[in-house]
Amino acid sequence: MKIIQIPLLRDNYGYLIICQETNRAGIIDPSEAEPVLRRVEQEKIALTAILNTHHHRDHTGGNEGLLSKHKLKVYGHKSDLGRIPGLTDGVDDGDEVQIGELRGKVLFIPGHTTGHLAYLFSNNLFCGDTLFTAGCGRLFDGTPEQMHASPKKLMALPDDTKIYCGHEYTENNLRFAKTLEPNNQKLISRFDRVQTLRSRGLPTVPATMEEEKQTNPFLRWDSKEIQTHLKAETPDLRLDPVSIFARVRKLKDAF
Ligand SMILES: [Zn+2]
Ligand SMILES: [Zn+2]
Repeated sequence: MKIIQIPLLRDNYGYLIICQETNRAGIIDPSEAEPVLRRVEQEKIALTAILNTHHHRDHTGGNEGLLSKHKLKVYGHKSDLGRIPGLTDGVDDGDEVQIGELRGKVLFIPGHTTGHLAYLFSNNLFCGDTLFTAGCGRLFDGTPEQMHASPKKLMALPDDTKIYCGHEYTENNLRFAKTLEPNNQKLISRFDRVQTLRSRGLPTVPATMEEEKQTNPFLRWDSKEIQTHLKAETPDLRLDPVSIFARVRKLKDAF
């Protein structure tokens, strides 16, 4: 299995997943068609599937352009029929998707949208706009309860799981995280590493689940430093995980 990260639009990432035994490939979240078509041609692979994590245009904008050139399966959540252009295979939690000989597992992780999915191919997690490296997506049509449950579900995956998210937002996410946890040494050193990568124009995605657990404020509702910070600025805040998560999300929205 080979993964090719393709920068799209301003800060989106699409991912080609290639089955090296059959030379067949799937594309996760094609924001636009042209850069994907060029890469498919360069790599001399056969594109067989689109895998959409959710319906937002910056994740599906290339569906029609790709479908005009290739006959493809289009995977997305079954509730997104009508919202995802060209959807052929509506799937749900626990279903399997196929690219050549590769099998991926579907995880239903609503919150950013009501039909959001992640795709897991061995230890590679493609999670769209639900979990970002060092952050998480905004709540569009989901609830804080759902949006807290979804990253929590992903946290049950092994620490060496690689997080391939939909956008390059890590630097700004870490800048926000430092306002909540300025004494987290792992966070400080991650921020330094990420700044170095960005100053060289390099991607900071993927990251590992281990790094996320150590530094992503949306997974750190147990952190005493975050709790103390939140309590100081909102004394009547309840310190249960969903309330902490929702408060951190609100603060990030205003950051
Ligand atoms: Zn989105
Ligand atoms: Zn997006």
